[in-house]
Amino acid sequence: MGSAVQPEREGRKLGVCSLCAKPSTSTICEQCEARIRGELLDEKQRVEKAGHTPRV
Ligand SMILES: [Zn+2]
Repeated sequence: MGSAVQPEREGRKLGVCSLCAKPSTSTICEQCEARIRGELLDEKQRVEKAGHTPRV
């Protein structure tokens, strides 16, 4: 048994981030959410760039 993680608290359930497994009130903590958003934006830009067909 290593570090004891107690996701359940008295009265209120405390979830953990599904990405970094850190205690978070949401499924994904703010840090990971921001990171995902950034990646999505980056990916979207890539897709748009890649999908951009040059005029012939
Ligand atoms: Zn996280």
